[in-house]
Amino acid sequence: MDYPFGEPPESGGVVEIAPDIIWTRMPLPFSLKHINLYMLRDGEGWAVLDTGLSTSMVRDIWTEFRANGLSGLPITKIIVTHYHPDHFGLAGWLHQDTGAPLYMSHGEYFAGRMLSLGAQKDVPETVLSFYRAAGFPDIAIEAMKEHGYANFSKVVSPVPESFHRLREGDSLAVGARHWQIVMGNGHSPEHACLYDAEAKILISGDQLLPRITSNISVYPTEPEANPLQDWLDSLAKLMTLPEDCLVLPAHNEPFYGLRQRADQIARGHLRSLQRLSSSCEEPKSAVESFPFLFKRKLEGFDFILAAGEALAHHHFLVNVGVAERTTSGGVNRFRTIAPFDPATVWPTSDDGNKR
Ligand SMILES: [Zn+2]
Repeated sequence: MDYPFGEPPESGGVVEIAPDIIWTRMPLPFSLKHINLYMLRDGEGWAVLDTGLSTSMVRDIWTEFRANGLSGLPITKIIVTHYHPDHFGLAGWLHQDTGAPLYMSHGEYFAGRMLSLGAQKDVPETVLSFYRAAGFPDIAIEAMKEHGYANFSKVVSPVPESFHRLREGDSLAVGARHWQIVMGNGHSPEHACLYDAEAKILISGDQLLPRITSNISVYPTEPEANPLQDWLDSLAKLMTLPEDCLVLPAHNEPFYGLRQRADQIARGHLRSLQRLSSSCEEPKSAVESFPFLFKRKLEGFDFILAAGEALAHHHFLVNVGVAERTTSGGVNRFRTIAPFDPATVWPTSDDGNKR
């Protein structure tokens, strides 16, 4: 894969992708460290693509960036790929300050708005029993109770009360460009990517990242979900775009190698599925399958993400008829009941390079 833009910008700095596209970054207090934001020239001002987490530090960087990076020009649109706080966090704050309209998919807007309104201190019992069913030990459940539940609105500014809807296949005019909306699923409910077919540029959000993989998780809100199937379908869809397309991702650096990377990510999941199916001769819970899926030591929030991710892989195997779920003592376990052939779910999984 090729990274044509060299060193990334500092937080609030500017790298010009094209005369009408600016790449900047905002800091994140996670292992991820940064999110990429893209500014799209829109007439006399700039449209903002993703916004950063709502913390006083990021707000300060934004204020500086608007004055210098954007030369004080107005913000015309706030476009958000999906509702996760690093992308959506400052949409409300920017909207409040500039009056610029918010553009999001229906699924993402309502997921974000619901979470921002649903703040409550105590973790609901359905959430605790979901993680008990995933095999969480009592100590992890206690830690979860301690951590509380009202955390979304701590890092997301109040959500605008109306939005402009982005739909699959829509064309969104920003300045001289026409961006086609390409929806993806699996990482979040209805993730919008923006594709300029004429210039062959894809703003991929979290749907395609060059150096890390997006979290694909089952959550307590939809305990029977099969997000990995959605994710693989979305990767296959992205692979219909041209290979010489410039990809502007939300994390890491802009790159060339769209199909190569989508295929690599899919095959990584296929390998996890293979390891899981061969390790589940004896039934295993989500937590009991961690050693077959993750090399790193899992603590705190990573433990929760890992459980969601393990369940996503188990549910996929159940849905293709390779595994079955059994429940005893409130814990769900998964057992392999048929051989798993990756080639039936992903065309290049055989020799790595068939396509
Ligand atoms: Zn995300």
